[in-house]
Amino acid sequence: MDKVLSKVRNHIMQGWPSARNLPEEVKLFVSKREELPMEDDVILWGSRVVIPDNMEMRTRILEDLHSTHPGIVKMNALVRSYVWWPGINKELEQQVRSCPSCQLIQHSPVAAQIHPWEFPEKPWSRIHCDYASLDEENLLIVVDAHSKWIEAIRVRHTTSAATVRALRRLFATHGLPETVVIDNGTQFVSEEFARFLNSNNICHIQTSPKHPSSNGLAKRDVQMVKAV
Ligand SMILES: [Zn+2]
Repeated sequence: MDKVLSKVRNHIMQGWPSARNLPEEVKLFVSKREELPMEDDVILWGSRVVIPDNMEMRTRILEDLHSTHPGIVKMNALVRSYVWWPGINKELEQQVRSCPSCQLIQHSPVAAQIHPWEFPEKPWSRIHCDYASLDEENLLIVVDAHSKWIEAIRVRHTTSAATVRALRRLFATHGLPETVVIDNGTQFVSEEFARFLNSNNICHIQTSPKHPSSNGLAKRDVQMVKAV
C-alpha cells in the first residue's frame, strides 16, 4: 500500500484528526471518510476500490478501461462502479480528449460496444440474441450474459413476429431482461421488434457491423449449438 493510503488506513482504524492537521494528499479523502470501509487491506469507497498511488497500476486500469474506446460518458459510468483515486475523472477526460476514436464516438453514439468490464450483476439482466440454422431448421439462440445459460428455441420462421412470439414465451418463464443485445438482422431492426422491446421497457444494444465481436456471446454459442 502506498504512503497516502496507509495514512488513510490508519485514520479509518483510529479515527480522523481535524482536517487542518492533515497533509494535502490525505485531505482529499476527508470528505469521503464516512463512506470508506475496509476489506482486508483494501480501502473501498462505496463499492469502488481505491487504487494506490502507483503509476503503473493506474495507467493499466485506464488503458483497460479505454480498450474499446467507449467515450467519456460510458467510461465515467464504468469507473463509478469499480475504481477511484484522487483526480481519476480528470485523467479519464484527458485520455478521451486526446483520443480521436473516442471523439468520433462522442458524435455518433450508434457504435455501441459491450465493454469487457460490463459484466451484469444479476442473471437474466442482459441477454444476447442471434439466429442459427441447423439441419434446415431455424434456431433462435439466446444467451444470458451473467450465467452464460443458453436457450436454443426452434422456430419455423425468422420474422420479427416469430421472434417476438418466441421471446414472449421465454420471458414468461424467465422474466423480463433489462437489456437485449442484437445484431442488425432484419428481424431485430424492424419497428415491430422495437415496439415489443419498448412496451416491455427493455433497452436494446445493437452491435454495429463494424464490431461483430460485440455480440460474440451469442455468435460463439451458435457455433457450439451447431457442434452438438
Ligand atoms: Zn479512445
